[in-house]
Amino acid sequence: MERTFVMVKPDGVRNGLIGDIVSRFEKKGFTLRGIKLMHIDRPLAERHYGEHREKPFFGELVDYLTSGEVCAMVWEGKHAVANARSLIGKTNPVEAVPGTIRGDFAMDVASNVVHGSDSPENAEREISLFFGDSAAAVYLFTSPPLTHSPN
Ligand code: GDP
Ligand code: MG
Repeated sequence: MERTFVMVKPDGVRNGLIGDIVSRFEKKGFTLRGIKLMHIDRPLAERHYGEHREKPFFGELVDYLTSGEVCAMVWEGKHAVANARSLIGKTNPVEAVPGTIRGDFAMDVASNVVHGSDSPENAEREISLFFGDSAAAVYLFTSPPLTHSPN
């Protein structure tokens, strides 16, 4: 069994696509092992996408990822990384075929709705980034915080 990290990006959350995306993974045969709605701060976005640090679109990518809540998930199954990537479709929605998530729900590479790890090693790295102790820099959205009144 393998695990992969999948994240509905802010445009996907805003457009109400969490349910459809979760449903596609369930119907494909994946097992959901973790899920949370969270806001990514810039340092976490920069670590997550560290491999793209030198790309001309890096700043825009970090702006995009931190522009709203995301839905972070861990999915488990056979060949989870590769199976998730095929459900998600090509990076550029122009090339993503209909039937894939990006093929059905996205138009532009700069807002392509969903992330999926590209290797089992990166999946484990990303899972610990978002679900391990180092995820302390992010927070769940629940109700407005209660005022803390010491003693
Ligand atoms: P992925 O693994 O399919 O998500 O693709 P990459 O790892 O190559 O790129 C990471 C993310 O960077 C993509 O999912 C897009 O959100 C974003 N991205 C890639 N290329 C571009 C680009 O040319 N412009 C912008 N603004 N974002 C891009
Ligand atoms: Mg990638």
